[in-house]
Amino acid sequence: MKTSIKTYHPFNGNHLETYTMDSESKLKEKLKLADSTFKTWKQLEIKTRVALMQNLANELHQNKTELSLLITKEMGKPIAESRAEIEKCIYLIDFYIQNSDHFLQDDIIATEAHESFISYDPLGCILAVMPWNYPFWQVFRFAVPTLAAGNVALLKHASNVTGCAIAIEKLFLNAKFPKGCFQTLVTDHEGIEKLMSNDIVKAVSLTGSEKAGRKIAELAGKNLKPSLLELGGNNACIVLKDADLDRHIETIVKARMQNSGQSCIAAKRFIVVEDIYDDFIEKFTSKVKALNYGNPLEDDTTISCLAREDLAETLEKQVQRSIDLGAKVTLGNTRDGAYFQPTILTNVTAEMPVFKEETFGPVAAIIKVQSEDEAYTMASKYKFGLGTMVFTSDYDAALQRTSEIEDGAFFINEMVKSDPRLPFGGTKISGYGRELSKEGMLAFVNRKTVYIN
Ligand code: NAP
Repeated sequence: MKTSIKTYHPFNGNHLETYTMDSESKLKEKLKLADSTFKTWKQLEIKTRVALMQNLANELHQNKTELSLLITKEMGKPIAESRAEIEKCIYLIDFYIQNSDHFLQDDIIATEAHESFISYDPLGCILAVMPWNYPFWQVFRFAVPTLAAGNVALLKHASNVTGCAIAIEKLFLNAKFPKGCFQTLVTDHEGIEKLMSNDIVKAVSLTGSEKAGRKIAELAGKNLKPSLLELGGNNACIVLKDADLDRHIETIVKARMQNSGQSCIAAKRFIVVEDIYDDFIEKFTSKVKALNYGNPLEDDTTISCLAREDLAETLEKQVQRSIDLGAKVTLGNTRDGAYFQPTILTNVTAEMPVFKEETFGPVAAIIKVQSEDEAYTMASKYKFGLGTMVFTSDYDAALQRTSEIEDGAFFINEMVKSDPRLPFGGTKISGYGRELSKEGMLAFVNRKTVYIN
């Protein structure tokens, strides 16, 4: 059995730290602490809980430089993007400071009763299983509304960002949250299985791959516990003949290449109508070529290595299998360790891995179609359901398509992105449940009906 976790800087493979994994008795201690903390934490007024959030935002602000460095060292994202991630967490906290109180107010429902209403009560200890690609953002978007609602949290982070996981726990402690409100567990898949069967854990939130989603859903089902799953995506980016490319090409490139292509909501399949195809390829290729590859610790780097070498190898295989089926390499397709060159594939068809599977890296699959109808049909040909984006000057016609889109999001003339003010989540194999906004705050509450006659 593994007793430690080692972390590495993916850009040069250097060993960063070795972390001792929590023993079974340590995990039990943490569970007990979570349980006892919950009993007092839930009794506090919402205002008191939310007031601590301001300390948390201050902690993030004061430690932004070193936290950004930690993110970049552990998972290789360009340092400017790591800073932006910390800033987005602060923005999220501000949003819940402003809104938690009214999101959690009882909802009065008029019936024949003297009084009837819905009360939103916390569930207890919530387990979060999180990925490495946005190691702070994913955790904060779960933890802030969940704790503000009166729950306590246990975090099992992706093993390659264990340093971030420990740093996040420290932030909560430094912000004066009671010990036990937010705890990091240094454990593995087996540990999760045991935690899920423990009565103290009341629900689970996973952000991760489809494979992990199936496992967590199975454990949640077996133990009859609520689960929220934010899983992979294979978003289509439809480019119609009237798209204003000069205005939007930067956004379209960012939609695929931000975080070195490792984003669930990235545009992965570009479905381009033939009238604008040549112009699109020219502008898209030129912008992708202009990305500045380099050391992620340098300020002007805009694209860097992937988070682990095995991820780059998987991507390489997906691209090669697509080439074997007839895809044409318009740009890129070389790998050096964890670095995979930004790649553009054309002649892509619906049978190819780069169309059917999630590609977690800087690979753009371009599909040429004859018409707008064909573009929407191609876009919907997939098992995932995170989001679809369309670029067009005919805003009204795009809006008419809203009911056809089966995904959790439809963005017109903008890349699919998360925003604390709007619900976020998927359909189909991209998962279920919603985070962010009021919906995210109510993800782990007991909507209790109260009836007074
Ligand atoms: P991953 O391999 O599924 O890991 C995610 C988390 O699940 C990690 O903590 C991992 O722990 C744990 N895990 C994996 N397999 C498990 C199992 N069988 N039992 C229990 N726990 C398990 O995903 P990733 O590589 O970190 O992240 C990339 C994936 O996340 C992509 O598919 C991406 O699209 C998706 N994602 C989705 C969203 C969204 O909001 N929908 C956001 C970000 C990422 P270990 O590290 O110890 O394996």
